[in-house]
Amino acid sequence: MSKSFDVIVIGAGPGGYIAAIRAAQLGFHVACIDEWSNAAGGPAPGGTCTNVGCIPSKALLQSSEHYEHAVKHFGEHGISLKDLKMDVAQMIGRKDAVIKQNNDGILYLFKKNKVTFFHGRGSFVQTVDGGYEIAVTGSKPETLTGRQIVIATGSSARALPGAPFDEINILSNDGALRMGAVPKRLGIIGSGVIGLEMGSVWRRLGAEVTVLEGLPTFLGAADEQIAKEAKKAFDKQGLKIELGVKVGEITSAKKGKQTQVGVAYIDAQGAEHKLEVDKLIVSIGRVPNTAGLNPEAVGLQLDERGAIVVDGDCKTNLPGVWAVGDVVRGPMLAHKAEEEGVAVAERIAGQHGHVDFNLIPWVIYTSPEIAWVGKTEQQLKAEGVKYKAGTFPFLANGRARALGDTTGMVKFLADAATDEVLGVHIVGPFASELIAEACVAMAFRASSEDIARICHAHPSLSEATKEAALAVDKRTLNF
Ligand SMILES: Cc1cc2nc3c(=O)[nH]c(=O)nc-3n(C[C@H](O)[C@H](O)[C@H](O)COP(=O)(O)OP(=O)(O)OC[C@H]3O[C@@H](n4cnc5c(N)ncnc54)[C@H](O)[C@@H]3O)c2cc1C
Repeated sequence: MSKSFDVIVIGAGPGGYIAAIRAAQLGFHVACIDEWSNAAGGPAPGGTCTNVGCIPSKALLQSSEHYEHAVKHFGEHGISLKDLKMDVAQMIGRKDAVIKQNNDGILYLFKKNKVTFFHGRGSFVQTVDGGYEIAVTGSKPETLTGRQIVIATGSSARALPGAPFDEINILSNDGALRMGAVPKRLGIIGSGVIGLEMGSVWRRLGAEVTVLEGLPTFLGAADEQIAKEAKKAFDKQGLKIELGVKVGEITSAKKGKQTQVGVAYIDAQGAEHKLEVDKLIVSIGRVPNTAGLNPEAVGLQLDERGAIVVDGDCKTNLPGVWAVGDVVRGPMLAHKAEEEGVAVAERIAGQHGHVDFNLIPWVIYTSPEIAWVGKTEQQLKAEGVKYKAGTFPFLANGRARALGDTTGMVKFLADAATDEVLGVHIVGPFASELIAEACVAMAFRASSEDIARICHAHPSLSEATKEAALAVDKRTLNF
């Protein structure tokens, strides 16, 4: 006998588990299926984000930042340490404990919201009267039927042709987050968010890091001025980033007990090189997870990348089947997946769930952090929008000086005629937290003058936001 549900969510990453909880809050009988297992074979809901993405990367960024502060900056505060050591095993163990807290938290939330969780792979069997039959394969096989199906199966790391991940020497994000020791030389292919964050972790711990990027510009999606400022900071830190390279053959060879990875590449000037490293992280993009869904059984439409085709409301080509998160178009970000999950649950309930794609913030948790929301200067120019810009450097912010972290700036872009804020770009300390004010302001269609007239606590980094808003009208007070 199959178990029937109003809503079945396949995947318990940020898109799926949030969709399941919201649907349950709205009164539906909900099941959520996820196949991720922990080392003991038990369920590990939370998806890429919790297990090998957002959360573990931030745990390692925090540990490595503490270490770098202790090595390089504690002296400035009059703190001296003897015999400072980095225990990589302890750092990885702490990261794993943080992951487990999140896995357990989601299982608790499912219980609290009466979402029935199934550990295993979910795939389509057939269309049935009023819905779909879904098979769960795993330690306890089940057959479920659901009136509405939400697919939130996420994405996996893309490998380079001819260089499959072995997670020992050629690493995806998964292996990059659980190296047992600091490699002497680390190569990274791809200078996107994941490459930069992973590069920062292992550089801070002592690795010599070289990042090879195929595109000619650094962080092309970010505002050019902000990307330039970030690149200057990374260069100063010793993170070697080569742009416009063409990666060729990747080879592995034994050197004594060690395996060495060779990366042949042609640089932007056309010269041939070979980079020799102890570990290589490949972060060149991600592929949507649809293979295990058996989409053919019901005629679910995929695009040429294997992503599920959806409209602006996350509806697929099948009635009652929705898809959210990394498995569909749009930025591969956890909070984008969550927003879509909530909106879909609300649409199923007949409400008007809404996601504003222009207001999805981007954050890179390097040091300095980089965050932005809305349009970049180059986008506004391309769209022919007349705008005013205002910037304020953290160098002139009292809290940043007290923190000892004065790199970067806040930048505002506002409509030349109406003063409405069109984009906010930050490179510097706690950019990830500061950007929230910009999101709120833009959601309420604030002008830069609105923000400039709001009292911001002193001394705080948020004063740099207020000053950048004042700078739009060329009347900064502290610079
Ligand atoms: C190293 C790294 C760092 C990142 N850092 C950030 C960050 O700081 N901020 C941010 O916003 N984003 C970050 N991301 C991106 C973020 O992790 C993803 O955008 C997000 O996890 C997507 O959520 P999702 O729910 O769509 O899919 P996922 O999180 O990938 O979850 C999908 C789940 O579905 C399961 N699944 C797949 N197929 C099936 C099936 N057939 N049956 C059952 N279960 C199935 C998978 O096992 C998985 O548990 C990072 C990613 C990486 C790799």
